[in-house]
Amino acid sequence: MRAAIFSGPGAVEVGERPDPVIQEPTDAVVRVVLGCVCGSDLWYYRGESPHAVGSIGHEFIGVVEQVGADVRGVRPGDLVVAPFIYSDMSCPHCLNGSTISCPVGGNFGNGTVDGGQGEAVRVPLAGSTLVPVPGSGHPDTVLRSLLALSDVMSTGHHVAAVAGVKKGDTVAVVGDGAVGLCAVLASKRLGAERVVALSRHADRQEIAREFGATDVIEARGEAATEAVLELTGGIGADAALECVGTEQSIATAFAVARPGSTVGIVGVPHGQVPFVETFFRNTGWRGGPAPARIYIPELLGDVLDGVINPGRVFDYETDLDHIADAYLAMDERRAIKSLVRIGEV
Ligand SMILES: [Zn+2]
Repeated sequence: MRAAIFSGPGAVEVGERPDPVIQEPTDAVVRVVLGCVCGSDLWYYRGESPHAVGSIGHEFIGVVEQVGADVRGVRPGDLVVAPFIYSDMSCPHCLNGSTISCPVGGNFGNGTVDGGQGEAVRVPLAGSTLVPVPGSGHPDTVLRSLLALSDVMSTGHHVAAVAGVKKGDTVAVVGDGAVGLCAVLASKRLGAERVVALSRHADRQEIAREFGATDVIEARGEAATEAVLELTGGIGADAALECVGTEQSIATAFAVARPGSTVGIVGVPHGQVPFVETFFRNTGWRGGPAPARIYIPELLGDVLDGVINPGRVFDYETDLDHIADAYLAMDERRAIKSLVRIGEV
C-alpha cells in the first residue's frame, strides 16, 4: 500500500509499506478515508522531537475491511473514528481515564505501527479502540468533523474538561492553533458564558468567533495578561486553557487564571509551571494527552446532530501524493491544519 513515510526532519513523502493484515485476533484492518497532519507531527518534521523512520500520522477515519476472530463492537463495512492511540479500555489506567498509560496500548504512526497518513491501517485492540459511526451517507463536512474527533477536538475538549469549565464561566484560551480553536468550541459547548481567545491572526480569530469566542485579545505576554484581567474586573478567568506549550504561553495561562481555579494544559510542555506562585494563589493545573477514546462517543453525537463543527479547523486539503505539501503548508503557517483525502467511504 501507499503511505506517508517519515525519513528524517523535513522529509515526509509518499512511499510503499506492506499491506496491513490481521496479525492478532484482536486486530482489524481499516481502509483510511481521511487523515490529517497534527501539530505534533510538525515537531518531528522540524527535528524538534525524535521520530523513527517509517510510518507517520495518528489521526484518521476509515472503513473497516477485516476483523480478527476476537474483535467485538466493530464489523467490516463500519465507518469508524480512530482515537490517536489504541488501548484496551479495561485496565485500571484506561478505566481511570488515562488511556495513554495503557500497558498494552500504543501510538499509531510511530514508524512501525501503521499511521493514519496511509491507505490502510492494522489497528491493534480494534474492538476497544475504534468507535463506529452510526448512519450512512454523511456529508463531507460531517466526515471532516469526525476526523477532528480523532485528536484535535478531543484534546480541545480535554483541556476544557480538566480545567472544570462549566455553565456561566469565563474562560481564557491561550493559543490559536487548531487545538486552541477546538478548546474555544469545547468551552462554549460546556456552557461557558464568556470565552476569551488570545489570537493575533485574522483567519484564526474568525474561526474562534464562529466557535463561540466572545472576546479576542491580540496582545501577547504581559499585555495579554493585563487585557484579560481588565475584561474580568481584575479577577482573572475561571478557567485558563493552555494550548501551546511554550514558556510564554504557560506563564500567560497561569497569570490570567483567577486564584482558586484550575489551569488546563494540553500544549506539550516546553516550559515550567510556576510552582510557588500557584501555591500562594491556590491555583492548580491538570492536563496531559487526551483520553480521546473516552470522549469520542459523546462528541460524535454532537457532530452528527450538527451542534459542533470542529472540522472547520481544516483549512488546507491535499491527497497522499502531495503529503509533503500538507506538512509544508503547516510548517510555513499557511495552514492551520492540513487534511489528507485518501479514500472514499
Ligand atoms: Zn488500558
